[in-house]
Amino acid sequence: MNIGSHGGSCAHSCCLRVQNLSVKIGNDTILEDINLHAHCGEMIALIGPNGAGKSTLLKAILGQQDYNGIISFCAPGQRNRRPKIGYVPQSPTFDPGDPVTVSDLFTCCMSKRPAFLGLSKAMRKKVLECLDRVHGEDLLDKRVGALSGGELQRVLLALALEPLPNILILDEPLSGVDVEGMEVLMDMLDEIRQVYDLSIIMTTHNFSVLNTYADQVILINKSIVCQGTPKQVLSSGEFNRVFHRKGEIV
Ligand code: ADP
Ligand code: MG
Repeated sequence: MNIGSHGGSCAHSCCLRVQNLSVKIGNDTILEDINLHAHCGEMIALIGPNGAGKSTLLKAILGQQDYNGIISFCAPGQRNRRPKIGYVPQSPTFDPGDPVTVSDLFTCCMSKRPAFLGLSKAMRKKVLECLDRVHGEDLLDKRVGALSGGELQRVLLALALEPLPNILILDEPLSGVDVEGMEVLMDMLDEIRQVYDLSIIMTTHNFSVLNTYADQVILINKSIVCQGTPKQVLSSGEFNRVFHRKGEIV
C-alpha cells in the first residue's frame, strides 16, 4: 500500500529518485521493488524492523552496495550527475580511553597533515566553522571517546556536512542518544535541511520524533509496506502488523 506518495511530480528544484530497486546478496533477496522520491528540503524517515533492509537501501544510495534498478538525482544544471552525499554511519564506536580528539578527527578527515602536528591556524578556523553548523565549537578539543551519544552524532554530522552535500543520510542517528539529546539533534537536522535545502534520509526506531520532524515516512520490510505522512503510516494497519502494535500515539 502506498499512501500520499508524490506521484512523480517534483515541485522542488532537485530530487533523488529510486525506481524498482532490488538487492540480492548471494541467493537472498534483501530488497525488492523499492520506489521512492526525496525532494530537497525534505526529511524522509525509513522505519522497519531489524533486518528489514534499511541500512542496505542506504548503502545502495551511497553506491556501496550493488543493486538492480535505477537511482537518479536531478538538480538544476546537474541532470543525472552523482549527487554529493553526506553520510553518518550506524553506531560508530570509539574507545572511551582513546586520546583522539575531535580536532584530530577533523584533521584526519579533512587534511593530509599528520594529526600529531595539530591543526594549522587556517584549518582550526575551518573546523570551527564546520562545528558551528552543529552548534558544537566547544567540542573541538574534547576527546571523541568522552563525548555523549548526542555530542558524537553532532560531530559526525559536522563531518558529513563538509563539503555541503545535496543529500544527507543518517543511519539510526538517535540510537545511543538520550531523550534530551534526541530533541537537540532533531532540531538541528530540521534547521540544517531548511538552511541548506538538503534532502535528509534517516533510519530510526524512535517513532515519537516522526510527527514533529518527518515529511514522509517509509515503512520497509524487504519491500515498501507503507508510505505516507507520519500520521498515515503510524496509524496504518501495516504499521501495527509489522510492529505487533494495537495503535500508536500520533
Ligand atoms: P536493517 O538495517 O533494516 O536492520 P540490513 O539492511 O542491515 O537491515 O540487513 C537486511 C538483511 O540483509 C539482513 O537479513 C542481513 O542479515 C542481510 N545482510 C546485510 N548485509 C549483508 C551481507 N553483506 N551479507 C549477507 N547478508 C547481509
Ligand atoms: Mg540497519
